[in-house]
Amino acid sequence: MTSEHSPEDLLRITLALVATRPLAGAWPEELHSLERLSEILPGTEDATATDIADVRALRDRLAPLVLSPDPDAAPVELSALAEEFGLRPAVDSVGGPIRHVSPDPRPVARAAEVLVPGVMLAWAAGLTSRVRVCGADGCETPFLDSSHRANRHYCSPRCSTRMRVRRHRERPPGAA
Ligand SMILES: [Zn+2]
Repeated sequence: MTSEHSPEDLLRITLALVATRPLAGAWPEELHSLERLSEILPGTEDATATDIADVRALRDRLAPLVLSPDPDAAPVELSALAEEFGLRPAVDSVGGPIRHVSPDPRPVARAAEVLVPGVMLAWAAGLTSRVRVCGADGCETPFLDSSHRANRHYCSPRCSTRMRVRRHRERPPGAA
């Protein structure tokens, strides 16, 4: 499954998961089911509260690795995650894609199989510098800036429009 996604796709999936985490005083916990992860975790309808807690814990460890990776600590942490889940590369056919598999039966391990190598690929592709946090008021959504000029400030057209309207309203009368 992993290798059908580009490093950009894998980073976007990781950022979508990271965006569900709570931020003190600003944002509530948004990961209440594994449905959001259905793209990478098919058949997790019967996820338990423990499964969700496991995925939240993985998410919270991945967040700093994609948002602002510490050049000294982050590689050690990402390698440690790969080791904790016992990830190893596997192939199913000559010319087929490389997948990473974990012997851990928990749903969180299915997420780790995709996300941990995904972050590694994103780092290797030099995408870390393209990760931004939305600049709109009240929005802290992280996103991958894949614009040609690398000059996106907002996570979505919705935030962009909202801020443009606000700037327009705040413009003093008579200003150009
Ligand atoms: Zn936003």
